[in-house]
Amino acid sequence: MDLELQGKVAVITGGSVGIGLAVAEGLAREGVHLALCARNEERVQARAGEIAQKYGVKAIGVQANVAQPGDVDRFVATVEAEFDAGVDILINNAGTGSEETIMDASDERWQYYWDLHVMAAVRLSRGLVPLMRKRGGGAIINNASICASQPLYYEPIYNTTKAALVMFSKCLANELVGDNIRVNTINPGLVLTPDWMKTATLLTENEPTTPEEYLDKIAKDNAPIGRFATPEEVADFFVFLCSPRASYCIGSTYYVDGGWLKVIT
Ligand code: NDP
Repeated sequence: MDLELQGKVAVITGGSVGIGLAVAEGLAREGVHLALCARNEERVQARAGEIAQKYGVKAIGVQANVAQPGDVDRFVATVEAEFDAGVDILINNAGTGSEETIMDASDERWQYYWDLHVMAAVRLSRGLVPLMRKRGGGAIINNASICASQPLYYEPIYNTTKAALVMFSKCLANELVGDNIRVNTINPGLVLTPDWMKTATLLTENEPTTPEEYLDKIAKDNAPIGRFATPEEVADFFVFLCSPRASYCIGSTYYVDGGWLKVIT
């Protein structure tokens, strides 16, 4: 299938590792030019440079903390300067898990995750939609999580802010459908990114189990498929949803979770 993505421009937050990097590579393979951002400048610039070289697209890596409004403004201004003909795709991907109880977590902690998971998507959409209108339309994908509807007990702030991101996504879809901008959410399940490997290594440090065995047990206990997804398996779905071939997909939430969601929605 020709995904008709050649020559498009995509902005990806958190594009330097994990799911965001796999989406960046998947889009670049289809001929999409890229603006990636992350906090660690060296890593995001290195990955952008490698992708540009490997796929022959333009790819820039910009240091920005999307939880900070000033950084988001600077990132949007850089994108506008580098891609003055406009932008076609926005992937709000940057995010991370949490660990707390509601009774103990401070207001500051709630605010941080609200800024990271919700306000970043609000601010980037506000900043980049004018550049999408310039192109006559586009696609926005918000990367939430299965935890938005099936909470994990140890991360109530993550669950709550990701659920808010799903609702934001639905509202934005209704607001932008007349601009030919399709907004959707993807809710991944267990995806084997370096962050999971790090957690498993830490938790098994003085245990008889290896990190691999620890992760295998998590997958077998939770996902009916019995294993983690690779970032690439999830990224392929993002790439399709970005494509004009997904033209009737609007305002929906898609689970890519190996069967983990226990209810129908
Ligand atoms: P990783 O930790 O592997 O990568 C996160 C990316 O986001 C990195 O590029 C990181 O770079 C960047 N990032 C993190 N915080 C910020 C910030 N404040 N500002 C800008 N960039 C930031 O994460 P995953 O690939 O695992 O997850 C990506 C998204 O997918 C997240 O939103 C996560 O909640 C969601 N998800 C992941 C699942 C999984 O199993 N892995 C399951 C369900 C959802 P840097 O550190 O340099 O800033």
